[in-house]
Formats: sequence, C-alpha cells, structure tokens
Amino acid sequence: MRMILLLGGAGFVGSCVAHNLLQQRYGLVIIDLFLHHQSVVLPGAVIIRGDFGDEQLLKTIFTTYDIAAVMHFAAYIEVGRSVHEPAAFYENNVVKTKRLFDVMLAYGVKRIVFSSSCAIYAPLFSAEKLTESHQLNPLSPYGKTKCAVEFLLQDYAVAYNFSYVSLRYFNAAGALPEHNLGEQHNPETHVIPLLFKACERQEPFTIFGDDYPTPDGSCVRDYIHVRDLARVHTKALQYLLTGGAALACNVGSGVGHSVKELVAVASGICGQPLATVIKPRRAGDVPFLVADVSRVQDLLDWRAEASLPQIIDDAWQFYQRKQLKNNAAALNLENS
Ligand code: UDP
Repeated sequence: MRMILLLGGAGFVGSCVAHNLLQQRYGLVIIDLFLHHQSVVLPGAVIIRGDFGDEQLLKTIFTTYDIAAVMHFAAYIEVGRSVHEPAAFYENNVVKTKRLFDVMLAYGVKRIVFSSSCAIYAPLFSAEKLTESHQLNPLSPYGKTKCAVEFLLQDYAVAYNFSYVSLRYFNAAGALPEHNLGEQHNPETHVIPLLFKACERQEPFTIFGDDYPTPDGSCVRDYIHVRDLARVHTKALQYLLTGGAALACNVGSGVGHSVKELVAVASGICGQPLATVIKPRRAGDVPFLVADVSRVQDLLDWRAEASLPQIIDDAWQFYQRKQLKNNAAALNLENS
C-alpha cells in the first residue's frame, strides 16, 4: 500500500489532519517527538517517535515504506522565542527541512504539502484582505524560516520537478474534542487557550493593546477551525496525487475577529463574564491579518465552514477534558 508520511503528525494541526486522512483510509507513517502531545492516539497509523531531521531515520522510512507524498507540520512556532533563538529556528525549520527535501529527492518522492504561515507577508496596516500576491517580507525569524522554505520549494520545483502545496495558515484554532485532539502548547501563548485559563482561574485576561487602528482598537485575526484545516490538507494531498502543479495558497476563513470579540464570545461559552486588563502592544503584532481566500476556493474547491463560536466551543470542550485529565493524574500522584 502507498503511504503518506506525516512529519509532526502528532501535533495540533498534524494530529487533526492525520485523523481526517485515517477516516478516508489513507495509510499513514507519522514521525513525531511527542514533546507536547504525549496523549495523542491515532489508531491505524504507523507511529515513529523521532526527529524529522534525523537523516538515517528518514532513509530507513523511505526504504521500508512506499511513500507517495509527505506532509510537513514539524516546526518551531513561537514567534517571540524565534526572536531570541533564531539559530534554533533556522536549524529546525530550514536546515532540517532542506535535509528532508534532499532525502525525498534521493528516493524519488517529490510531492509535499507544507505548513506555511501568513507570517511570511509584509505587515499590512489597513483592513484589506491579504492575497497570495501580497509582498513577502516577514517580520519575525519564525516568519522568515517559513518564507525560506517557500523559496526552497519554488526552486526545487523548477530544478527537480518537486510538486508542492504550501498552505499559508492564518490563526489555527478550535479542536476535535470528540477525538481528544486539540491545542496543548507549552508554554501556551495562543489567545483562545489563554482566555480559557483566565476564565478557569477567574483572573483578568490580558489584551495586548487597544489602540490599534481597528474598529474596537484590538487586533483583528482570521481564526480557522482545525477541522476545516484538516479538510483542506486532504484536498491539497488529493490535488498533488492527481498531478496538480506547485501551489501556495492562504487558508483562513476570510473573516476577521478582534480580540475583544473573542473575549465576548468566550465569556458566553465559558458561562462567566471575563474581566480584562489592557497591557501594551505585544512586540511584532500587526493590527490586521485576514485572508483573501479566493485562490484556495477556486483551486482546491475548499472553504471554511466553522464560525467563531463553533471554534471557541470546540476548543473549550477540549480544554475542559484536558483539565479533568490533568486533575485526575495529579490526584493519582498524590494518592500513590
Ligand atoms: N492576544 C492577547 N492576549 C493574549 C494572547 C494574545 O491580546 O494573552 C492577542 C495577540 O496580541 C493577537 C491575537 O490575540 O492580536 C492572537 O494572538 P495569538 O498569539 O493567538 O496568535 P498570532 O496572531 O500572534 O499568531
């Protein structure tokens, strides 16, 4: 059977994509370090605990399995940390990725779906939607590493006939609570889990800046449900497996929501009013990041379905289950 190799397939987006592919009867090989997602279970997949940058491991996998395509989710993603630790980010996100591409070439595997990011675009200071032809000029080292890989892909496509789909994620959010798959970063920096933490601890939630040139002064982002993201990855894979040409496209909902809107929706879903405190702007944040989604709609026949309340509701259910589990584990420890 031909298999799909997922790098970072136990992470937040990777595990939800893996789940979607398994439901559609794809054979999967997953490499992951299982750093933050020890509890992820994906029955039916071949799971290998390891580093996608381990050349020998990759060679063994390409020799053992008939790999039809690769999906690459494994990356460092914390924008703030990337400013202080660019060496680690370039090593993990670029150097290891080039090594992967070269092993793929050596084994004649030339199809890849790559997790890119809207962080590669030049900052936009108005309420326009970002199209794929918007200038690439990332602010952060994180964004630069994603941009560097996009350039690698372009050049490998021309010189070595690589075919790829680069999916430029906007704000991945939500969860698949019914399958116990969701977001669990450590440390957590993402707004939705932090809203839940504030609710749970009855602490004020920090809004980073309310003096942006946006309708309510707080930053506007395009939140995309991970269930929708999973569907678009499967579409991208099918596109490549049926001979689709190299493609980079935005994946977002096409709708912007401010941090203050998030606070209101989360308060409703968590069932308690959430106090907020305004702190200075977070370094590197831009006022608007909203996708123009025409290209992905036209070429991959995909559009986002989940609304913001659905995203927050699913994320909340996952968060609560995770907290219950953590509490039970702590109790067991105390009693043992
Ligand atoms: N944000 C916030 N308080 C927090 C965390 C995030 O106000 O505790 C804001 C952040 O400034 C940004 C938005 O929420 O405007 C989304 O941030 P996140 O880190 O989730 O994603 P990013 O857009 O930075 O990738």
